[in-house]
Amino acid sequence: MSTGDGSTVLVPRYARVIVDVPLAQALDYRVPQDLCVQVGQLCVVPVGRQRHVGIVVELAQDTALAPARVKPIAAVLPGVQLSERWLELSRFGSDYYHYHWGEVALGALPPRLRRPPAARPRKAAAPPADASPPPAPLAAIPAAPGLVERPELRAEQQAAIDAVCQTEGFTPHLLFGVTGSGKTEVYLGIIERLLLRSNCAQALVLVPEINLTPQLQARLCQRFPHYRVLSLHSGLAPRERSDAWMEAHTGAARIILGTRTAVFVSLPALALIVVDEEHDASFKAHGGVPYSARDLAVKRAQLESVPVVLGSATPSLETWQLAQAGRYRLARLEQRGAPAGLQPAADPLIATIDLQQFPADQGLAAPLRDALEETLARGEQALVFINRRGFAPVLRCAACEWLSRCPHCDTYAAYHKVGASLRCHHCGWSKRVPAACPDCGNQDLQGVGQGTQRVEETLRRLWPQARIARIDRDNSQGAKGASNAGAAFDAMHAGDVDILVGTQMITKGHDFRRVSTVGVLNADAQLVAADFRAPERLFAVLMQGAGRAGRAGQESRVLIQTRYPQHPLFAALARHSYGEFAQEQVDERRAARMPPFVHHALLTVAARSMEQALEFLRRCAQLRAELPATQGVTVFDAVPMPLARLAAESRGQLLIEAARRPDLHAFLNAWLPLVRAMGNRGVLRWAIEVDPQAI
Ligand code: ADP
Ligand code: ZN
Ligand code: ZN
Repeated sequence: MSTGDGSTVLVPRYARVIVDVPLAQALDYRVPQDLCVQVGQLCVVPVGRQRHVGIVVELAQDTALAPARVKPIAAVLPGVQLSERWLELSRFGSDYYHYHWGEVALGALPPRLRRPPAARPRKAAAPPADASPPPAPLAAIPAAPGLVERPELRAEQQAAIDAVCQTEGFTPHLLFGVTGSGKTEVYLGIIERLLLRSNCAQALVLVPEINLTPQLQARLCQRFPHYRVLSLHSGLAPRERSDAWMEAHTGAARIILGTRTAVFVSLPALALIVVDEEHDASFKAHGGVPYSARDLAVKRAQLESVPVVLGSATPSLETWQLAQAGRYRLARLEQRGAPAGLQPAADPLIATIDLQQFPADQGLAAPLRDALEETLARGEQALVFINRRGFAPVLRCAACEWLSRCPHCDTYAAYHKVGASLRCHHCGWSKRVPAACPDCGNQDLQGVGQGTQRVEETLRRLWPQARIARIDRDNSQGAKGASNAGAAFDAMHAGDVDILVGTQMITKGHDFRRVSTVGVLNADAQLVAADFRAPERLFAVLMQGAGRAGRAGQESRVLIQTRYPQHPLFAALARHSYGEFAQEQVDERRAARMPPFVHHALLTVAARSMEQALEFLRRCAQLRAELPATQGVTVFDAVPMPLARLAAESRGQLLIEAARRPDLHAFLNAWLPLVRAMGNRGVLRWAIEVDPQAI
């Protein structure tokens, strides 16, 4: 082969390929003479006796292996060539989270693309080979015709849009504003400006849970009827998902709305990343590589030299701290907007109800009952929020104190009246409710405590004439559940529901215009939780709940039942001051040496017995002695995890802490290979998590 300048380019003889197997290194393969292979292409390669899909990450003339032992690439899959920057992003994910590159990179592709073609059904051979968009996947939401509603932007919104659009290259922005302050309108404005700059630019919008944000999908489609808007999430059928992915990869889709997995979608002309509700825990992946899609989004923006906008009413303390330190640019939205003809939302009154003074009866304290009564009398709507589903968290025998426990976990099995079952919310175990106490035969079994089903029942008993609906995970999962929940949300929007009861799900994303009362039944569960991030999460949930009230400008209130009305969190909340709360938390964390002022990694292990689990972790900790100097790193004692037994497995953890991030990574780089080399030693499995969210 020769090039224009006369030099000779050698045809590569070997390709280094990453595959999704637990191997630290890329594997070398021979490039058959009749095959044109390029970096970033997907290929099929033999690994042992199996065929795997791999990604070519390097081409070379030589191999360190005996050439005779190097097997050839079996096939190159047409249609997909990942960019250098995409490879870099996955490489960064691998280095940062300490998982093998192949695990991260292949794990980031839609499942259909990472299966070798032979294993796929016959007619679905290879992905489309050309750049023409495939038939519209079901994932796409058709643009609603008609007038595009576009409010006149307030100065602070315009300033936020200008700030993002005027910066060149990578700049992270925090868009900080309460629900209803017009953040989405700002995203739309930025997208519009940036997409107009070139006729191929693409915008990636990440949201925590796509099923809860149909309004955002609709708004994007409505606002941008000329651009292809795609939604990409794990709820899609495999075929839809790979088709949607290909549309993004070919550049046919200009706006990609997706959940956390979409942070890895291949985008040839990425111009902007938006992360809405950036504080949301759903951005953290579970199972597989435990990455944070929010953090990777920022990294990706840096690699691609594009702006990234993180939006939230209650930013994560990490993000908040970076904005305070000037590393992220801060844009604040202080006012609230409203569609033409409607009043803007007013800040609701946020108050606590002291449960010591007003004991709860069937979960409801008298002041909340009165408030709901008034709300119904005025023909307005109410939300009642309780973070436990089922009828009661536990079933109890009145005679012998038997309690319904999960046989596989260190926890109680909740009593579900609907479906008459006992269910473990941790491992999924379930069983019919026994007719009598398994221990003493007594037939008087009672649910203890409150769950959504019981609250619904109580409300129906108190106000038989009221229209009451419930939404929680039990009646919103799966296709049937989704339409169920969708119908309930629609009824709520249409004003056909007076009181909506539910878990956290009902506090997210919905713009109910007639809600004037929000009741929060058990905030205390999180207030007293051992996890140091619990207050941050509680504040976010309560703030989000408060954002549901008074959206049409009517007077509204949020009433929180608690035993700790003096807690400073409530004072900041009552003043609607996330800044005040965040500053307190940041000071506390700095003083107590907690993230973001130190950095954590967590080694977790599952074993048949706790003794085995802890013994394994102790051995891991001892491996430190074999390392050269590992300064600045603390390895804590091996301890049982907060939920020590889950699904019949005993779980332990080892916390590693460093004040400086490079120290943490240097330690993990040296230590993890020794841990891997040790083998499993009888434990079922172990995993490393960088920046764990719960410890
Ligand atoms: P957020 O994303 O912060 O919750 P939205 O962008 O959804 O806020 O705005 C809330 C409501 O206010 C929406 O109905 C939106 O159309 C409206 N809105 C936003 N900005 C303005 C504005 N400048 N003037 C009038 N209404 C606005
Ligand atoms: Zn009994
Ligand atoms: Zn269980």
